[in-house]
Amino acid sequence: MTKIIHSQYVICIAGGIGITAFIGSLKYLLECPSSVIVTKRIHLIWIVKNGDELTWFAQIICDLYHKFWFYDEMDRFHVELYITNKKSLNNFNFCDNFQILQHRIQYGRPKFQHLFNFWKQLYEQKTVNVFCCGPKMLLKDIKKLCIRINLSEKIKFNYLHDSYS
Ligand SMILES: Cc1cc2nc3c(=O)[nH]c(=O)nc-3n(C[C@H](O)[C@H](O)[C@H](O)COP(=O)(O)OP(=O)(O)OC[C@H]3O[C@@H](n4cnc5c(N)ncnc54)[C@H](O)[C@@H]3O)c2cc1C
Repeated sequence: MTKIIHSQYVICIAGGIGITAFIGSLKYLLECPSSVIVTKRIHLIWIVKNGDELTWFAQIICDLYHKFWFYDEMDRFHVELYITNKKSLNNFNFCDNFQILQHRIQYGRPKFQHLFNFWKQLYEQKTVNVFCCGPKMLLKDIKKLCIRINLSEKIKFNYLHDSYS
């Protein structure tokens, strides 16, 4: 867990309740003076079945956004939220307090191959720590992608399975 806040470039991928593993680090980033934060950029990808799950931690995600905005460092925190249940397709709305997150929502599962291709270009020659917490298949897919890209590219996606313990 503490590895997140000691990493310069971080990708946190959470499936459902797996987001819990990242909340401590988000809280740290929120409470710590901006000048002390080592992390240059953090990407948070959170996949849920139903939109209302996003409200569990919407407050802290919004607060962190506002903090980085306040310090004119909005590029430091990137969020993508995914709702996968077909029944809640296109009809989830955050309450007014969390509107900032509304346009971060996408429907269906992330296209990880596309995302990693984008990150590959963005972080060429760098090491990016990738943390994943959620359903087993998600962990497996992300680990496989990291290993495959590391074999052939000038970038290191350092896959770290996050644990609650
Ligand atoms: C006591 C306990 C301890 C745990 N400790 C850990 C731990 O230390 N580390 C850890 O990683 N997990 C841990 N888990 C498992 C973790 O809680 C999982 O997130 C959980 O099994 C599934 O949660 P969920 O029902 O909220 O996810 P779900 O709602 O089933 O899934 C969340 C979302 O992920 C999407 N998804 C699933 N597979 C993929 C995929 N391959 N690609 C893209 N999207 C996908 C689904 O479509 C869904 O929208 C623990 C679980 C328990 C009960």
